Amino acid sequence: MPEEMFLTSVVGSFPRPRWLVEAFDRFNKGEISKEELDEYLDDAVKLTVKEEELVNLDVITDGEQRRTSFVSFVAQKIPGFKLVYVTDINPQAMEVMRQHKAQLTYWRAVAVDRIRDSIIALDEFQFTRSVTTKRIKVTLPSPYLIMWETWDQRYSKDVYPRPEDLAEDYVKVLRQEITRLRDAGADFIQLDEPMLGDLVEADPDKPDRYRKVIELIHGQKYRGFKNELTLARDLINETIKGIGGVRIGMHMDRWPNPDSPYYGVGYERLAPEVIDIKVKQYVLEYSSPASGDPAKFAQLLPQDKELGLGVINVRNKEIEDPQQVIKRVELVEKILDPGRIWLNPDCGFSPGMYRKFERRIAFAKLRSMTEAAKILRQKYLGRA
Ligand SMILES: [Zn+2]
Repeated sequence: MPEEMFLTSVVGSFPRPRWLVEAFDRFNKGEISKEELDEYLDDAVKLTVKEEELVNLDVITDGEQRRTSFVSFVAQKIPGFKLVYVTDINPQAMEVMRQHKAQLTYWRAVAVDRIRDSIIALDEFQFTRSVTTKRIKVTLPSPYLIMWETWDQRYSKDVYPRPEDLAEDYVKVLRQEITRLRDAGADFIQLDEPMLGDLVEADPDKPDRYRKVIELIHGQKYRGFKNELTLARDLINETIKGIGGVRIGMHMDRWPNPDSPYYGVGYERLAPEVIDIKVKQYVLEYSSPASGDPAKFAQLLPQDKELGLGVINVRNKEIEDPQQVIKRVELVEKILDPGRIWLNPDCGFSPGMYRKFERRIAFAKLRSMTEAAKILRQKYLGRA
């Protein structure tokens, strides 16, 4: 029997308190200083950590309280990126997003100069480490995501003729940050790769709705299904090559689209390339059958890999019963040893700071998840 079973964590973000969002707005208007904003941010992290401890999560995050969004915060951290409002990039952007039913974050981090090594999340981790003794997960935008999100034909082309050139530079920056986080004692480093998850809905020669929207707004061209897959695999593998001593995972979500012929199809569509990515854990969205059957993906996993199973829906307010969570876990229990199954929500509760989600509902959902883990563990211990 494994020492630990059904470990629980979150994907990353936790809803920000109302007063934090207000403080951000006041800071942007010049009404409060950076020092005052930092005090709000520290308080918000302490509150989030406390809530995650109260629900008894095994591995916690800082709820990404300091980030404006899970991806565009790189513009606050890495020289070379700049925040640009989406309609300043393309005046038709809102119409394009509406038409294709694919929302991008409005404030876009765009590469405008050569990007250089700098702290991305080490400062966040060190603060969190100072306020909790729990194990800590740190989330970082993955290179394939950054390539699709931040390259723009008008802003980036002079410094990075091809999006792949930008991705290569970001890989170098990310490797240094991962090494620093490992050396500082981070327990789990998660690369966020929603753009790879979205690829489930792409055709060999026709992009999914998110890539379509980025093509129209930023001018990056779809390379075709297989080429995209191998590029993503190679960039992520290059990022983590030879870095041991820390658990590295990758998160993909689905936001299943009822209009897509791939509604109900899972990440196994991205195999074998996705399985060849050398991460230890896949943190995936599975609370709805629309994301596919987790058993199909679990069957493909080599023995040394773990599945972070999405068992909590972050897009509705209905609080799952622990028994409902257990039913979702049963889908993979026959395939994976309980030490290889982790439980998490499908995605962050609030990947961007303006995404509203009631904190008390997020709290209750997490509590159901940890209750379910407890029941599952007791069942295995009773069997021993
Ligand atoms: Zn996600």
